[in-house]
Amino acid sequence: MATKTLKGKIGVTTENIFPVIKQFLYSDHEIFLRELVANAVDASQKMKALASSGDFKGELGELKVSVELDEKKKTLKIIDRGIGMTEEEVDRYINQIAFSSAGEFLEKYKDQLGSIIGHFGLGFYSAFMVSKKVTIDTLSWQEGAKAVTWSCDGSPEYSMGAGKKEDRGTEITLYLDDDSEEFAAKGRISQLLGKYCKFMPVPVVFGKKTEWKDGKSVETDEDNVINNIDPIWTKAPSDLKDEDYLKFYKELYPMEEEPMFWIHLNVDYPFTLTGVLYFPKIKERMAIDKNKIQLYCNQMFVTDHVDNIVPEFLTLLHGVIDSPDIPLNVSRSYLQSDANVKKISTYITKKVADRLEEIFKEQREQFEQKWDNIKLFIEYGMLSDEKFCERALKFTLLKNTEGKYFSLEDYRTAIEPNQTDKDKTVVYLYATKPAEQYSWIEAAKNQGYDVLLMDCELDSHFVNLLEAKVEHTRFARVDSDSVDNLIPKEEKVKPEMSEEDKKTLDELFKGVLPEGNDYMVDAQNLGENAAPVLITQSEFMRRYREMSALGGGMNFYGTMPEAYNIIVNMQNPLIAKIWEEKKESELLHQVVDLALLGNGMLKGKALADFIARSEKLLK
Ligand code: ADP
Repeated sequence: MATKTLKGKIGVTTENIFPVIKQFLYSDHEIFLRELVANAVDASQKMKALASSGDFKGELGELKVSVELDEKKKTLKIIDRGIGMTEEEVDRYINQIAFSSAGEFLEKYKDQLGSIIGHFGLGFYSAFMVSKKVTIDTLSWQEGAKAVTWSCDGSPEYSMGAGKKEDRGTEITLYLDDDSEEFAAKGRISQLLGKYCKFMPVPVVFGKKTEWKDGKSVETDEDNVINNIDPIWTKAPSDLKDEDYLKFYKELYPMEEEPMFWIHLNVDYPFTLTGVLYFPKIKERMAIDKNKIQLYCNQMFVTDHVDNIVPEFLTLLHGVIDSPDIPLNVSRSYLQSDANVKKISTYITKKVADRLEEIFKEQREQFEQKWDNIKLFIEYGMLSDEKFCERALKFTLLKNTEGKYFSLEDYRTAIEPNQTDKDKTVVYLYATKPAEQYSWIEAAKNQGYDVLLMDCELDSHFVNLLEAKVEHTRFARVDSDSVDNLIPKEEKVKPEMSEEDKKTLDELFKGVLPEGNDYMVDAQNLGENAAPVLITQSEFMRRYREMSALGGGMNFYGTMPEAYNIIVNMQNPLIAKIWEEKKESELLHQVVDLALLGNGMLKGKALADFIARSEKLLK
């Protein structure tokens, strides 16, 4: 058929599609390479299918895709040994369908080009984003097929005629545009192949492997295959060992520390999804790199921005998910409301919870060892995802100040007898900075109480969450009240004082406390051996202040002055003496300063005065 060169006008409605294609999503020009290599891979796989079904009986040969760059001529070739195309097929798929679908696509989305997700699959025509001219040389696998050559210089006119290609397959040549010279560099193409083609299912070759010889790098005869055609997510979990998962992680993130756990996702109903997700070591929330999950569609890289597909808290994970069911050529807002995407997101959350519960049950020791590193992730998940929270209550651990770990249930059973208050509420005591709160922790332990360690940045939110989720539970930081009052077992008897006495006591103490804070002076009977003055901060106020500092939307609390309770132990002999005198004295200053010192609140001049006074009193 193809005896004389045909000239034709491409069937597009848009008068000239190329300027539009060129402008299209400027930052995403690089995806042309993925589109072309993907077409070549497709054609190769179709060839393989024809051979295995028996429709093709000839020599299959090695089905690889070669990418060849000529830096000088500024040409880039993508060559495959796939099914090729007959002249009719080029006419149908390239001149008619592909062009019109690209045209339709642009027509449909022309008002929102900027907002469209960058992965729309413009297919073959994305080549024109970077080329001034594109040629196709192809020979179909079909018996008696004739070679075809096709060429288009970016105007709506193409030429098509008899070609010279002798072996089966397709060779696409891009004559790179002057403003796309960046793609005429080996390093750039290597980088793009690494990004987009790393796991494509047919070997992709870019030049030859090099080796060091006599102090310089020289080419060998061996093809430089840039991809891994059967990455582990395509295999059955039962065929894989821990080493395989760790090796794959290294392949994905050569610079990262070893992950802690992983989950192999594998579902084919009601949608198809495979993948491997890893738990990285997380030390600080701020240090987490979020774009570490890569989304593939049949081993073809789509994006590493999975925000809408994976629930927000799970974007902390690393790894790969592969699903042909995620719509790629649509806008982000559409993706959010897509039913399949929602199902996928729910499924992934469930699998993550399943896996954590499994490790909790079957490898408890390992789970405890890694707890400190995954705690932030789990707390974040529980705070942001209701369903995950319900599941995670089963495997969340609490760690006490002695470094022992407990499940929520075990911990409650352990503390219930001794730490239930008069209102039948179980009180969980905790410390946030054990070194600073040392004396408070010791006092609680001496009462036979256990003290948890809550030193994670999300803990104030987390403590609130547990109070809401677990009935009859209250959390109190060890320094939020005197040890007797942390877990009040009976109505406490307050010292009998007239209103006037209360006012005198109030003025007496406020007169010697540092300015700038709010104080509540409270007379209590704590016994003669207990400290004369205790400074505590209400659990409620402190916690809300911390949460608002973290951005919990409670800024009201964050802007208020610090409020402290000044507990005056009326039974302490020193207080008795101060109360007898009822006036400012060195002794009064000294007991207040000691309490301030114990809370790390004595600073600057006040501290210097305290030292001078102490020296004087010692003489
Ligand atoms: P899509 O790949 O989404 O169908 P394209 O515009 O990329 O759209 O390609 C249009 C059609 O051209 C393909 O469906 C295929 O039939 C044909 N085609 C493209 N590249 C090749 C190739 N390398 N070998 C064989 N056929 C190809």
